[in-house]
Amino acid sequence: MNRPLTPNDMSSFWMPFTPNRDFAADPRLVVAADGMHYTSSDGRQIIDGAAGLWCVNAGHNSPRIVEAVKKQVSTLDYAPHFNFGTPQAYELSARLAALFPAGLEHVFFTNSGSESVDTALKIALHYHRMRGDAARTRLIGRERGYHGVGFGGISVGGMVKNRMHFGTMLAGVDHIRHTHDPERNAFSRGCPEHGAEFADDLIRLAELHDPSTIAAVIVEPMAGSTGVLLPPKGYLQRLREICDRYGILLIFDEVITAYGRLGKASAAEKFGVTPDIITTAKGLTNGTIPMGAVMVSEKIYDSAMENADAPIELFHGYTYSAHPIATAAALATLETYREDQLFERADALAPVWEDLVHGLKGLPHVKDLRNLGLVAAIELESREGAVGARATEAMKAAWAKGLMVRVTGDTIALSPPLIVTEAQIAEIFDILSGILRDLA
Ligand code: PMP
Repeated sequence: MNRPLTPNDMSSFWMPFTPNRDFAADPRLVVAADGMHYTSSDGRQIIDGAAGLWCVNAGHNSPRIVEAVKKQVSTLDYAPHFNFGTPQAYELSARLAALFPAGLEHVFFTNSGSESVDTALKIALHYHRMRGDAARTRLIGRERGYHGVGFGGISVGGMVKNRMHFGTMLAGVDHIRHTHDPERNAFSRGCPEHGAEFADDLIRLAELHDPSTIAAVIVEPMAGSTGVLLPPKGYLQRLREICDRYGILLIFDEVITAYGRLGKASAAEKFGVTPDIITTAKGLTNGTIPMGAVMVSEKIYDSAMENADAPIELFHGYTYSAHPIATAAALATLETYREDQLFERADALAPVWEDLVHGLKGLPHVKDLRNLGLVAAIELESREGAVGARATEAMKAAWAKGLMVRVTGDTIALSPPLIVTEAQIAEIFDILSGILRDLA
C-alpha cells in the first residue's frame, strides 16, 4: 500500500496481546529492519531493545540466515516428516544435541513456543505411561509462569488473565509459588541471594497430592514474560533434587533463555542444572521462520522406543515439524551464533549491561531493577488504579524517541540482539533515563 494506513484499513487484523481498540489511533508500524534497527513507517531508525520479541538474537536480516532461507525456498519448499525425511533435519538435530547439556540428545520439532510446551507436557505424561506408571498424571506449574497460549500452556501457566476467560483448564494441575520476593531481593544484581527455599513448595505439593501422582513440573529458569523474575541462587538445584527424590520430571521452558540470552547456549548450562526436557523456539531461527525444538533426555526417548506397543512410538507431530525452510534458517542461525561468538559476546557484555541497568536506580517511579545476561527489567511503581499504565506510557515515549522495548505489567523488559555494541547499550539507557525523568 502506497498511502498511510487508516484506522479503517486496520480493523480486520485481530492483533495478538494488543489493545486493538486503541492501536489504530496511535499505531507503531515497522516496514524494514537491519542489524540492531527497525525502520518505522515514518522513516525513522528505531533501535531494537527487545530483539523483536526476545527472538532476534543475531540481529535483523543477518546475511547468512537470509541467504540460507532464500536458497532453501527455491530448492525444497516443503517436505513432510511423517514417514519421510530430509537430511538437514537430522543435521539440525545433531547440532542441537551437541549444543544442549549432555544427556538431552533427542529433539522433537514444533513451530512455536506454545507448541513446544504442549509437546513437552505430552511427552512427560507419555513417559510415565510407557513405564507402567499411568497414575502419574498431575502437572505442576508455577505462579507467574508463562508457557504460551495452548491449553496445556495456559493450564500450567500462572497468569490469571491468560486463563480466566477460557473456561476449564487441564485437570490435575497445581502450581508452586513464584520466587519473586521484592522485600528481600529488590535491586539485586543478577540472581537474588534469598529464596532457594521457594523450591520446597514442590515438597508441599508432592505431600499434598501424593508424589506418585505427579508427572512433571515445568518452570522457566528465568521467567521472562511476567517481568523478568530471576531464580534465587540455589533454587533450580533444589528443584532438581526434589524432582529426583520423588520421580518427577523437570521441564525447563527455555523459549526465551535458550540460544545465548543469558550468555550461554541454555539456562541449564548457565545454572549447571540439567532438566529432563527443555522447550525452545524464538532464537532457534533468529525469529525469521517460526520453529520450536523440544530437547528430550535419553531415558525418556529410550522408554518410548523400548515400550511402545505400536510401530509409531509417539502419536504426536505437526505438518510443519522440521519444515525445510525453518530447518535451513535454524542451521544458519546456529552457525552465525558460533562463528560470530554471540553467546560469548553476551557473556562479556553482561557486566557493562548490569552497571547501566542499575544506574537507573533513584530515577522517579523506579521500584526495582533486575538483570541477567543481556536481559533487564525496570519495574515501575503502579499508577493508582492502572497497573501497567506508566510502563505503557514509557514504551510509547521510547518508540517516539527511537527505541523499541517490551512492556509487561509495570515492567519494561529489555533484551537487545546479542550483536549490540557498548555504544548502543549506552544509547538505550540514555533514551530510557530521559524518559523516566520525564514520566509523570
Ligand atoms: N514459553 C515461554 C517461556 C515464552 O516466553 C513464550 C513466548 N514469549 C512461549 C512459551 C510461547 O511461545 P510462542 O509465542 O512462540 O508460542
